[in-house]
Amino acid sequence: MSIKYVSTRGKAPDLEFEDVLLAGLASDGGLYVPETLPEIDLNAVMVKSYVETAQIVIGAFLKDVIDQSDLNQIIENCYRSFDHAEVAPIVHLHDNIYVLEQFHGPTLAFKDFALQFLGRIFDAVLEKRNQHITIVGATSGDTGSAAIEGCRGRENMDIFILHPHGRVSDVQRRQMTTVNDGNVHNIALKGSFDDCQDLVKAMFNDQPFRQRINMSAVNSINWARIMAQIVYYIYASAKLADKYDQIAFSVPTGNFGNIYAGYLARKMGAPIDHLIVATNRNDILYRFFDQGDMKAEEVVPSLSPSMDIQISSNFERLLYDLYDQSAGRVEQDMQGFRKNGSFRMDQSALNKMKELFSAYRCDDDMTQTVIKEAFDKYNYLMDPHSATGVHAAELFSNDHKQAAVICMATAHPAKFPDAVKAASGIHPELPEYLSDLFKRTERYDILENDIDVVKKYILDHIE
Ligand SMILES: *Cc1c(COP(=O)(O)O)cnc(C)c1O
Repeated sequence: MSIKYVSTRGKAPDLEFEDVLLAGLASDGGLYVPETLPEIDLNAVMVKSYVETAQIVIGAFLKDVIDQSDLNQIIENCYRSFDHAEVAPIVHLHDNIYVLEQFHGPTLAFKDFALQFLGRIFDAVLEKRNQHITIVGATSGDTGSAAIEGCRGRENMDIFILHPHGRVSDVQRRQMTTVNDGNVHNIALKGSFDDCQDLVKAMFNDQPFRQRINMSAVNSINWARIMAQIVYYIYASAKLADKYDQIAFSVPTGNFGNIYAGYLARKMGAPIDHLIVATNRNDILYRFFDQGDMKAEEVVPSLSPSMDIQISSNFERLLYDLYDQSAGRVEQDMQGFRKNGSFRMDQSALNKMKELFSAYRCDDDMTQTVIKEAFDKYNYLMDPHSATGVHAAELFSNDHKQAAVICMATAHPAKFPDAVKAASGIHPELPEYLSDLFKRTERYDILENDIDVVKKYILDHIE
């Protein structure tokens, strides 16, 4: 029997994996979650490689959905492009603190783990159904390149990524615009990131257009992304399970997609005792954990831009569990949040959450201090996102001396060279395979912030 997926708001039809993959968001505005979770036998993964672990874990979800040997091949291809033999190496930092390096993928950030898989699984499902889709997305920098790398050259899809013209870093822009596959289309929009996002939303809400191009998205609420991220929690905790009685993960958090995967890994049997949410100065989650009020405030730019968010969309999935799968209560909170910009969680759900989760915040000054100290004391160079996680881990560790803490290093330092140089004095070098990034030819078009112009462009350029 294959796993069924239900919406957190309870009013959309239950779906099976393939339809959840293609739908992204549920039709009632909720997010799909699996009705049941497969269990993982820890002994079976303790000595496995990353790829083997992924084949076991994702295979358990996709039993009766895709042939295991086809899946094994897809997964092997996903992680072949990573430039480290271990895919996600675990590095000892100091005392009981470890770093799980998630930045060896083609775009140097953890999103590659999910998006390399997403592009390939999309392609396999579309091939089987003889369908073609057009992916349209907006990016402030990071997700766009990871999505493009995941979808480049896939036969059954075109991908259009809008970025704000002149407002992404040179490295970020070049990672997107130097990809020369015919199905990849970069649009530099004369506007802000919010303008890009508004246009994508407007196109999604335009039913005739949406149907005409068979529009789809690869945003962070897609279930398949979460599923692929569960793997590294099981992999890493299994590797340290022999040495430690307690294991915690510290996760630089924005949309709550990464850490929610850790929550599911624990439910599937991974030896995880605690999950630590690290935020930067955009600390909505930190305040929520403290007081139980989810209250949106204006986003301020920080040294860790991928965590500069107002709402953590994937939090809704955890909320659904904290409310004992009561879709009505989730719906109520989400409506309140949309109307008033805030909601309050009741004390018993808050207490339940705090048994497993803690949250810490790290402002830009502290981020720089952590980068500098890690380099000076342990000769380890880390990026600003990873630094927020290490800061949280060290605070947590003060009170939990016996626990191992695994910090997610979500980006390569060379992705944020200015911040890293300012903090440590060291200019981080791009890895070998990207060293000619600034010599490659760019390909993109600059468009007016006008929905009709963008729609026409998309229609003209679909392969
Ligand atoms: C996306 C991203 C995050 C935040 O992850 P979420 O799943 O949105 O919580 C953290 N660090 C980096 C480098 C990212 O790209």
